[in-house]
Amino acid sequence: MHTEKVNIKSYSRKDLQHVVAELGEPGYRANQIHRWLFNEQVENFESMTNLGAKLRNRLSNRYVIQSCSIVKKQLDPEKKNGMGTSKFLVKLHDEQTVETVLIPAEDRNTVCVSSQVGCPLRCTFCATGYMGFTRNLNAAEMAEQVYLVNNLLTATPTNHVTNVVFMGMGEPLLNTSNVIEAIETLSDKDYSFSLPQRKITISTVGLIPQIDAIARSGIKTKLAVSLHAANQQKRASLMPVAKEHTLDGLHNALERYVDLTGKPVTLVYMLLEGINDTMEDAKSLVAFCSGFLCKINLIDYNSIVNMKFKPVETEWRDRFIRILVGAGLNVTVRKSYGTSINAACGQLALKEKTLPADRFIK
Ligand code: SF4
Repeated sequence: MHTEKVNIKSYSRKDLQHVVAELGEPGYRANQIHRWLFNEQVENFESMTNLGAKLRNRLSNRYVIQSCSIVKKQLDPEKKNGMGTSKFLVKLHDEQTVETVLIPAEDRNTVCVSSQVGCPLRCTFCATGYMGFTRNLNAAEMAEQVYLVNNLLTATPTNHVTNVVFMGMGEPLLNTSNVIEAIETLSDKDYSFSLPQRKITISTVGLIPQIDAIARSGIKTKLAVSLHAANQQKRASLMPVAKEHTLDGLHNALERYVDLTGKPVTLVYMLLEGINDTMEDAKSLVAFCSGFLCKINLIDYNSIVNMKFKPVETEWRDRFIRILVGAGLNVTVRKSYGTSINAACGQLALKEKTLPADRFIK
């Protein structure tokens, strides 16, 4: 009977222990294989020279090594120095595709990683939410998005990925165990890539049990929460998931998170004209921020093919900021990169998917 070979990269490090145990091999072989796959990034079992020919043969009889690849690149034409924001269409192990974004700045190169094909949460302002949900990415598919971009960057001496944000397509905390596994691989101190966990940010819409789980997990990454409104009704109308994961519950979870980790949380707030930008909204945000260490990251809305939301005027945004700063909050305004190639926040969606007509400006 013909059995299809399994992609060995789809296994976690723990699963690899079972793979080698089934072959009657000692546990340390799992670490050796993991190292060949993710540190050396080999494409065949023959290259795993410390395994012995017999084991290599048995592995290749059962498994294949399939890697992700970049199938399309888009450079932001707004940048002229060849290092502009870049969007990559990445083909996964099963031919599905996701988008990965490189955001270069003077002192850093940040890769924005997708964690799901599509997303089930349907935030009203987000292009990915309208694609529907296909599947979670496994840990290898997330780590490989970073490696692929890093391999492009390191073609230029001294250039490499310095930061990673799980802020691309999908909600990372609906795929928590694979995200943690990917982070552990990316930050493995024995591997040459070895990105410190403090340079990695997980961005969530605010899933309460998962925030607790991340706090308890011991990983040292940063946490960003997409807040977008500090009024329960408004937030629930922007983000349907907020009906279940309420503001009160989220506030308590963030208090617990900061208590346990000692690290501040970044609250991401996208100003939408006439929706969440009143002075009352600013005061609600100030009230929400009491009781735990946090900073506010205000971002501009990036238009998505005629979707009905609009960014706020600069002067209006400055008034909003004055209230926050006046209340002693730490506020940063994030300049949006990559809007011209639909690589900015909320804009990631595969081109062939279309947005529903009811989201268009009438
Ligand atoms: S904003 Fe994030 S969680 Fe919401 S629909 Fe988009 S990808 Fe999903």
